[in-house]
Amino acid sequence: MTRREFVQATALAPAVAGMAGAAEDWRIFDRAMRWAQLTLVEDDPVKYDPKFWLDYFRRIRADAACLSAGGCVAYYPTKIPFHHRSAWLGDKDCFGELYEGCRKLGMLVLARTDPHATYQDVYDAHPDWIAVDAQGRKRRHQASPEMWTTCALGPYNFEFMTQVTREIASLYKVDGIFSNRWAGSGMCYCEHCQKNFKAFCGMDLPRSNNPQDPARRNYMQWNEQRLFELWRLWDGEIRKVNPNARFIANSGGGALSALDMRTIGELAPTLFADRQARRGLATPWEAGKNGKEYRATLGRKPIGGIFSVGVEEPYRWKDSVQSAAEIRLWVADGVANGLRPWFTKFSGTLHDERWLKPVEEIYTRYQRWERYLRNEEPLARVAVVYSQQTARFYGAGQARQKVEDHTLGMYAALIEARVPFEMVHDGLLDGNRIDRFKLLILPNVAALSEAQCGQLRDYVKRGGSLLATHETSLYDEWGVRRKDLGLGDLFGVEFKTPVEGPMQNSYLRLEHTTRHPLLAGLEDAPRIINGVYRLGVAAREKFAPPPITLIPSYPDLPMEKVYPRVEKTDIPEVYAREIGRSRIVYFPWDIDRVFWEVLCLDHGRLLRNAVEWATNEEKPVTVTGPGMVDVTVWRQTDSMTVHLVNLTNPMMMKGPLRELIPLPEQKVRVRLPEGKRARRVQLLAAGTTPRVQESAGAISLTVPAVLDHEVIATDF
Ligand SMILES: [Zn+2]
Repeated sequence: MTRREFVQATALAPAVAGMAGAAEDWRIFDRAMRWAQLTLVEDDPVKYDPKFWLDYFRRIRADAACLSAGGCVAYYPTKIPFHHRSAWLGDKDCFGELYEGCRKLGMLVLARTDPHATYQDVYDAHPDWIAVDAQGRKRRHQASPEMWTTCALGPYNFEFMTQVTREIASLYKVDGIFSNRWAGSGMCYCEHCQKNFKAFCGMDLPRSNNPQDPARRNYMQWNEQRLFELWRLWDGEIRKVNPNARFIANSGGGALSALDMRTIGELAPTLFADRQARRGLATPWEAGKNGKEYRATLGRKPIGGIFSVGVEEPYRWKDSVQSAAEIRLWVADGVANGLRPWFTKFSGTLHDERWLKPVEEIYTRYQRWERYLRNEEPLARVAVVYSQQTARFYGAGQARQKVEDHTLGMYAALIEARVPFEMVHDGLLDGNRIDRFKLLILPNVAALSEAQCGQLRDYVKRGGSLLATHETSLYDEWGVRRKDLGLGDLFGVEFKTPVEGPMQNSYLRLEHTTRHPLLAGLEDAPRIINGVYRLGVAAREKFAPPPITLIPSYPDLPMEKVYPRVEKTDIPEVYAREIGRSRIVYFPWDIDRVFWEVLCLDHGRLLRNAVEWATNEEKPVTVTGPGMVDVTVWRQTDSMTVHLVNLTNPMMMKGPLRELIPLPEQKVRVRLPEGKRARRVQLLAAGTTPRVQESAGAISLTVPAVLDHEVIATDF
């Protein structure tokens, strides 16, 4: 495919996908609510006990399984040359045996393949199947050096793995084939990649990561197009054998996702977020964030959260076991955010069994709650926009994670403010996607096209509100800086000077005479700390006196010199305005990013006030009481639910939880959907029917305590 054909194909893609989507063939996968994955290791065929696993699947009420079949190691009697059978397989069919057992339990079954590594005999016979590094050397596998890393974009995947995929789908009536590490292991400079890339754009493969380098930019497009081509190829081959079965890629994510989530949302009938546990500085609400990100492009299709039971750090202790509390909270936050649990266990021979009981408790609990977990739609009225193009083209100059810090800060502030919210993909800003929200938040969504700015302008015309920060819309979709902010007309400001910073010892003066709602709860604070980076802008519309003004940096050493040189300026550091029914708040500084870095209470309060003022309506659910809670709200066919996930824990920001500590009493007010009456209200975890006051389309109740996860289920 040439570049021109590619552009044409991409332009047509949504229409084609729309036709395929009409069949709703994802409904098959919608049956599954609790997944079990067993990834066999090569010597399992003579060591492990399949009956133990089938019994465990039955006991925990798992209704779907993902089982090792082929690729790196074949666990069935394959006939394909170079498809490496387990050296311990003998005349057994391990995959077939587990497949049959799961079918008897009524489970959906996916066959797992992993094509990323291969052996010396493949290297000898097909040296061109092996990935090549920038110096032209064939790449040994990083962890198993007797093996070789394969090229994902050449004949190994397109020919050999296509044969494997076809063979598995033909021998077993699986519901799909799930492929792990199918999308390559970084840049490949093999002969096929060189030749195919040249045919695509006439260039040599890039040697830099700079997205403004034309070769790099073309590579990003080509790599993605090639992988989606592979996805469609494998999906098509599977469906030729069994029209109801599908290819399920282990791919996807948020702004940092390697593949375009919009296209994934069109192609995938179901998708699973492979974030197996927390590591490093990761919060427990990141499980739920995956759910919001996946739902943004998959919509109503079922999505799941893959969790492991082990300690997840770069040192990869694959046979380890986490504390029960840690596993429970990670899964709970995913479930509260619409992810169906999928446990993954490597090795059929267990070296540590401590996880078995906690996972059984988690699964049987969610099986009891199943009716109330079959969500039709979230009822959140606020959404955070995430932008892969901003991460790719604007963020590439910085550490990639830095771009995401704006989103993480906004996310943390919304959790603290107990605002139920969704996420929205910047490629899906059409009215039927975003009009369900009263407020869209743009956390430094720097790269936006003219068309995207136009969609946001239309959204505001229809009464939608915006909260935006920092360099939002200052760059086009390729990360090239504009002369002025693309959304300057909505923010009411124009661009003046590039980003200043890092600023030391700078403050914000709170102008309480304005009595602006943004300052609520900060009445006793004459000033608060500033952010670290600010964009220079000036008003282009008439604003009321600003509620927040700049106190410029002054020396922070020697201590004798630490006094403000300028006590007061008239430089606004927030622009808040109303256009018709819409309210717009724009912070030219990095309030969200610095909230993530510093977690200053004042910034959190300011963000909460900004969200509440701009939304300008009562939240769908208001939860009052001490502690940190992730609050989500959902509608099912005949009911609605409010999930409370108790995040209050000394290990909330890092490290595995030691224990669950009950959240104290919370007062909850839930707005009922238009025209609905509450027929019955239950607390699912407590197993009680609380006393409820109903008035003016809302119910009020008290939740006495939450250990990890409580659901207020209201039947209509
Ligand atoms: Zn290659």
